[in-house]
Amino acid sequence: MKNLVFVGFILLFGCAGKPHSQLSASSEQSEALRVPAFNADSAYAYTAAQVAFGPRVPATAAHQRCGDYFVAAMRRLGATITQQEATVTTYDRQTIPLRNIIAAFQPDKPTRVLLCAHWDSRPFADRDANPQNHRRAIDGANDGAGACGVLLEIARQIALQAPNVGIDIIFFDAEDWGQPAFDTRRSGDSGYCLGSTYWANHPHTPNYKAQYGILLDMVSARGARFFKEQSSVYYANNIVKKVWETAQSLGYGDYFVEQTGIGCDDDHIPINQIRKIPCIDIIENDPNAPKGFGDYWHTLDDTMDAVSRETMKAVGQTLLQIIYNS
Ligand SMILES: [Zn+2]
Repeated sequence: MKNLVFVGFILLFGCAGKPHSQLSASSEQSEALRVPAFNADSAYAYTAAQVAFGPRVPATAAHQRCGDYFVAAMRRLGATITQQEATVTTYDRQTIPLRNIIAAFQPDKPTRVLLCAHWDSRPFADRDANPQNHRRAIDGANDGAGACGVLLEIARQIALQAPNVGIDIIFFDAEDWGQPAFDTRRSGDSGYCLGSTYWANHPHTPNYKAQYGILLDMVSARGARFFKEQSSVYYANNIVKKVWETAQSLGYGDYFVEQTGIGCDDDHIPINQIRKIPCIDIIENDPNAPKGFGDYWHTLDDTMDAVSRETMKAVGQTLLQIIYNS
């Protein structure tokens, strides 16, 4: 994922069209459910398990094994699994295999909420301080694995006690194969978000719709700050408000900052623009930070050492609170 230059962004995007759907059309007639406690140790273990495979770069054995791990874990939790396999083209015209993994809970429920994250690891540590590392793949403990770890723990809680809405969890592939900084050739496309763009054009069920979506990216680092991502505010501000207010009410206001941050080229863009599902991005970003993101971003420092159970708890508990009140 990369940050966008945001000058004139709102003007460029034009009219938002229809108002966004309500967060919880069904909540009035649904019985109130106990909100489960998010287990951060479990989420941490799910994250460490992914990182232990090695960098999950498409077309590698580590990637294959980690994909199999997601499928087996979600099957054990009772989800209906759809796998999308395709060939996609990178920014520099290479073709790579793609594997999106979709886990549907209560697939017959018409009212659905989409939760998603990318599961691939960036093939290039192009922001590393040492140029000799720029062509090495990153562990992606935060940039990939941590968000998937939060989603796996949420899936585990859903399996123990179903919420009133159906939940679809999508692990998008090939988010992070965007053009590296060391490659200064002109290319037509940034090359990010290949998996989510493919899914948005080829949803796993015909005309797939969800009430709203929440994308997680880099949600596990120690001391993370989640400023409100600009495209999320633009496309789905009612969901942004709901999530940030919920986080505040749970005592996580230090993480969820009540200010707009940077705009990100991330998987929520095709979901909003192509599938027309209002979708926000909870992503560590700080407009005052040197990189806009955490110091570990796209470096070899994105390891388990940077992962924090407390940050995962703040994000995971907030999401459960939202889901079980939907
Ligand atoms: Zn990334």
